[in-house]
Amino acid sequence: MNDLQKRTWAEVSLANIEHNYGRIKAAIPEGTKFLGIVKADAYGHGAVQVAKRLEKCGADYLAIACLDEALELRRNGVTVPILILGHTPPDYVNLLLENELTQTVSCEAKAQEFSDAAAALGGTLKIHIKLDTGMSRLGYLCRESYFEDGVKNVVSTFNLPNLDVEGIYTHFSVSDFKDADSAAYTKEQFKLFTDVIHTAEDGGASFKIRHCANSGAVVNHPEMTLDMVRPGFLLYGYGDEGRLGLRPAMRMVSTVSTIKYYEPNTCVSYGRNYVTDKRTRMGVVAAGYADGLPWAAAGKCAFSVENSFAPQCGNICMDMCMIDLSDIPEAAVGSRVELFGETAKLETLASAAGTIPYELLCAVSKRVPRVYIE
Ligand SMILES: *Cc1c(COP(=O)(O)O)cnc(C)c1O
Repeated sequence: MNDLQKRTWAEVSLANIEHNYGRIKAAIPEGTKFLGIVKADAYGHGAVQVAKRLEKCGADYLAIACLDEALELRRNGVTVPILILGHTPPDYVNLLLENELTQTVSCEAKAQEFSDAAAALGGTLKIHIKLDTGMSRLGYLCRESYFEDGVKNVVSTFNLPNLDVEGIYTHFSVSDFKDADSAAYTKEQFKLFTDVIHTAEDGGASFKIRHCANSGAVVNHPEMTLDMVRPGFLLYGYGDEGRLGLRPAMRMVSTVSTIKYYEPNTCVSYGRNYVTDKRTRMGVVAAGYADGLPWAAAGKCAFSVENSFAPQCGNICMDMCMIDLSDIPEAAVGSRVELFGETAKLETLASAAGTIPYELLCAVSKRVPRVYIE
């Protein structure tokens, strides 16, 4: 055990990410480009490490949420094309140009600002146009009565000086749901996306990279891969329901720091929510909500210790929480506790907390060292 592994740590398997990359590649048509989503520190896995591995695997593109995340990758020597999914204020177009970053443009007015800023700097900014086909978040309006204006704005963006419109994309809101209503909604989004593209092409525009498939679409709507897929969740080993044979890339591990016996009727932790109903061998785990354990899962989850599951008892504290080790005599001070990973499933912990697995990955805090294993 090295110094980083004494308390709580997150093991990240870059080999599993590479495996997942290969499984996704095998599931999409040959020649389809691959954009790996590494926003939010690669869903907590470490953006630089994951980006470098994906680059080595041959990923065509990476995407992050904001300029600072892109600059972190460039500073660390990542040279593959990078798409910024969110907005960047036009004041920073110099940084976009210097670092050869591709900017998402989500409306005509912003396209004009980017065009002006790039012209003032004497450069050409590479952009991808984003369409709002039903997520109702970022993107050119183009639904229903907005269709004609949407197409017109896309074409006029295409014709603005100092912008190189390389791609066009949209984002699905329910592609990961299997019910008929969600599938129909995703198909409608896809149809609108391709209708806008075709109509804009008739108006003189052209797009080298058309993309819309997030993880949900890669799994549930393989006919929507177009020129490039854009998965995040799948890359980290989740969301395929076993169909692609993915492997979770992160394992969050802590240790038992103390074990004590309590008589029946002993209150445990803040709030006195938990009261022992028997003589209890209680372990203190060196991880709490400041490490990323969800407070909301208190009393509703179990962690893996010495090949058994230990129920978590009482409120989860900032830096610790308690587990019942009465039925696990092999557990001792220093025993490792898998909070989620191979045996304790991230999805189970997330549903205990009433949240989504994405949030728990992003919640693994700065205090938790990432240990890269092969
Ligand atoms: C986060 C994000 C993705 C990846 O979503 P997953 O569900 O993790 O595959 C794809 N596209 C956009 C625009 C995103 O913001």
